[in-house]
Amino acid sequence: MKLAARVAKIKPSETLAITAKANALRAEGRDVIGFGAGEPDFDTPINIKGAAIRAIETGFTKYTPVGGTDELKEAVIAKLKRDNALEYKRSQVVVSCGAKHTLYNLAQALFEEGDEVIIPAPYWVSYPDIVVLAGGRPVIVNTSEADGFKMKPAELKAAITGRTRAVVINSPSNPTGAAYSPAELKELAAVLLDTAILVISDDIYEKIIYADFPFANIATAEPRIKDKTIVVNGVSKAYAMTGWRIGYAAGPEQVIAAVNKIQSQNTSNPTSISQKAAVEALNGDQAVVGKMVSEFRKRRDVIVQMLNDIPDIKCLSPEGAFYVFPNVSGIYGRSFKGKKITNSAELIDYLLDEVNVAIVPGAAFGSDDHIRLSYATSMKNIEEGLKRVKAAVAKLD
Ligand SMILES: *Cc1c(COP(=O)(O)O)cnc(C)c1O
Repeated sequence: MKLAARVAKIKPSETLAITAKANALRAEGRDVIGFGAGEPDFDTPINIKGAAIRAIETGFTKYTPVGGTDELKEAVIAKLKRDNALEYKRSQVVVSCGAKHTLYNLAQALFEEGDEVIIPAPYWVSYPDIVVLAGGRPVIVNTSEADGFKMKPAELKAAITGRTRAVVINSPSNPTGAAYSPAELKELAAVLLDTAILVISDDIYEKIIYADFPFANIATAEPRIKDKTIVVNGVSKAYAMTGWRIGYAAGPEQVIAAVNKIQSQNTSNPTSISQKAAVEALNGDQAVVGKMVSEFRKRRDVIVQMLNDIPDIKCLSPEGAFYVFPNVSGIYGRSFKGKKITNSAELIDYLLDEVNVAIVPGAAFGSDDHIRLSYATSMKNIEEGLKRVKAAVAKLD
């Protein structure tokens, strides 16, 4: 059957594929420990669930305005003011079915054939393909591990051409956990101030930060770039609400209107019930977030230590999110039963086959020297899983 050419230009999300594979093996009865999940292992807080239940009971179950209810937009506006010192009008906010959907619609609204979008690597798996689906060209800027996986102003500058339309910044980062300090963001902004280049700031891990500086996005760090910044965020990661599918963007009115127009012809509004839940997430008690983060921090410390305890694995301590991105290239060249392991895909296949541990290959994020482990899983799984990885690595010749 003939399919549209665009299908062949992209690949399925590798993180979702690994999770599916781990689940399938588990269903066969194998004792698989999964480090693939890109979602908190905590339950959605009870007050948020309650708001959704009330929405159902009171019949709030019909279409809403395409870009979200005024009530939710006001909650988003209040959040952006409170947490990020950024002020927006309702016409500058759009709510979509998850931040991934927000990013997709944004790309559809902004990019076309010939447009270049700068994406620092290691990057979140979906950015390049979202740009490709819009007809644009991802321009990958490799960051160095020595720089903590953070793009330097000179690296950004060198990637800019006459066709550059936007830069994607994701801090704290999935997959590296790297977080830019306000000063670092200001320096990046300085490169862009005299250009027409937009910044897409993916702040989805804003709340999950352990750095010794407070979270800032580029528009907070450098207010002069706010008019060219689109802030993207959502409730999935901060409130353990991945299944509810609520994300949002705030930015220039023209861009937001374009996203609304696109959205009106694909999904229409995000789920009415989830919108009520998101209002409660943003306006309600924030204490649960702090509890989750302190648990993540403990797990981070354990997983980083256990990884660095394995010969030939080196792991930086991430400043945010719930992933570690260890360098495993020291293992490449070694072999198991005569079969050489030469890249991240072969390593993760070996670990899954040999010790039932599911990890995502770094190649999916633009760095084949690394693998990504999510520590959004229990301490027990972390300890047992890392023990298995250590044993598996020790078995290599
Ligand atoms: C999880 C994630 C998203 C998308 O989250 P949604 O569930 O679609 O709101 C966006 N960006 C990054 C970097 C993520 O890890």
